[in-house]
Amino acid sequence: MNDVSAFVAALGDVPVVTDPRTLQIKSRDMTARFSPVMKDDALGHVADVLVMPRHRDDVLRVARAAAIARMPLVLRGAGTCNFGQGIPLAGGAMIDMTGLDQVLWSRPGRVRAQAGARLMAIDEATRPMGWELRMHSSTKKVATLGGFVGGGHAGVGSCAWGILRDRGNILGLQVVSVEENPRIVELRGDEVNRVHHAYGSNGIITELEMPLAPAWPWREQVVVLPDFMNAVRFAHALATSDGIEKKLISVIGEEIWQLLKPLRPFGRDGHAVVLAMIAEPFVEAFQDLVRDHGGAITVDAAEGAAPYGMPIYELSWGHTRLHVNREHPDIVSNVGLYLDPDLVGAIGRSHARFSRQGLGMHFEVKRFDGQLSFQGSPFFRYRDEAQLAEIMRDMTEDGAMVANNHTFLVKEGGMKSLGGDDAAFKRAMDPLDLMNPGKLRFDAEPPREAAGAALPSPGWRFQDAASAEATESTPA
Ligand SMILES: Cc1cc2nc3c(=O)[nH]c(=O)nc-3n(C[C@H](O)[C@H](O)[C@H](O)COP(=O)(O)OP(=O)(O)OC[C@H]3O[C@@H](n4cnc5c(N)ncnc54)[C@H](O)[C@@H]3O)c2cc1C
Repeated sequence: MNDVSAFVAALGDVPVVTDPRTLQIKSRDMTARFSPVMKDDALGHVADVLVMPRHRDDVLRVARAAAIARMPLVLRGAGTCNFGQGIPLAGGAMIDMTGLDQVLWSRPGRVRAQAGARLMAIDEATRPMGWELRMHSSTKKVATLGGFVGGGHAGVGSCAWGILRDRGNILGLQVVSVEENPRIVELRGDEVNRVHHAYGSNGIITELEMPLAPAWPWREQVVVLPDFMNAVRFAHALATSDGIEKKLISVIGEEIWQLLKPLRPFGRDGHAVVLAMIAEPFVEAFQDLVRDHGGAITVDAAEGAAPYGMPIYELSWGHTRLHVNREHPDIVSNVGLYLDPDLVGAIGRSHARFSRQGLGMHFEVKRFDGQLSFQGSPFFRYRDEAQLAEIMRDMTEDGAMVANNHTFLVKEGGMKSLGGDDAAFKRAMDPLDLMNPGKLRFDAEPPREAAGAALPSPGWRFQDAASAEATESTPA
């Protein structure tokens, strides 16, 4: 039983909300919509109190009060995470960070903002001087920078810039420890990855410094191509056309785009669809590439001004599933990473396998750890965990590195590489184990009570982690 009175008393005048309906709403993220395996956990846990810090001093009070009252904490931006990151497994306090929403400064090539600043607001602040975030989740309109770095991993822009974890994509961040005398710690360089994708379990992010990219006038493009593998080859050719500036490349099989209501009028029977964002000066070069692959452009529009009524990125990444689930809530997907040099071959094997079962595939193109990769899986009607496991094994057999998007455990999720230093950092920043308890665990075996944790996912393998292991095992 969490001691809410002691916690609130120690908070001073930091605003709190205890109304049960608000607590229930603010305890929900998008997990229940995305994973039937985690649905019970996602709907079954509710925080005891909602806290709304207004500035960093309030955050320090929250950290101190939590330590005094032994109150579990879960940080919250917009609550759009969908891999169980935001589930308050131990109840406790939900900390709404959206009050810390200032863009602190921006210079050519970099910006510093508070953790609760929305990705959209950051772009609005930097675009007038010709710069924008290198990448953003497809939830850009509502998602916060702290939530993107704390729970996300890549997005629109990743086909050019890689994933958040790649060196240079997070320049620095400030975190607050949860202790009676909280410390403010600035991490830079490789150290930022301790906190990235740790689900707010090893420090409260208060500020972030991010690199910026040139803000091109982007053109949204919908391309139809006969045959799914032809669309994959076209997407690969576009990704490797170094002279064409691009921000988004998504490949959507016919079985799937037919289920996306806003996109339906712009597809063509018997064709796959590729969505792209191309910098305006390079549209002619792009059109030539489309022609070479036997495709046709059905939409060419300025960003946000296309006839489907939303920015094109709101049809991509997690939004592809979201639209499909509006009419077909039982359809699910996995997270496979198909990497060059053989990504077209590996996708070809998976596509042949899954199309025999009548399943279409969806991919997002991203650079990953220095390589080109396509991230995606077939979309399928959920039956049970055995079916999920079988599809994960099939994808692995075809050559994909499969992460597990059906567990709230960071390690078993397989998208973050964790070493001994991470355990030490967690102990230093959260010595009382109050931050998002139950998610960042270092046990060799997944705990039995964690739904979905035992699904067969070897996770993503990063080159630096692999070379560190090789060095450790090399005899001196
Ligand atoms: C339709 C849809 C599309 C999506 N597309 C993408 C995508 O393209 N790319 C992608 O990476 N993800 C994507 N996601 C997942 C999610 O939207 C992103 O991770 C998003 O950027 C999270 O931002 P948020 O503000 O909603 O964070 P939240 O969901 O509120 O939080 C995410 C995690 O970060 C932690 N956190 C929040 N604030 C802080 C803080 N200040 N300090 C420490 N920890 C904190 C939370 O505790 C939680 O564990 C998508 C999800 C949906 C539902």
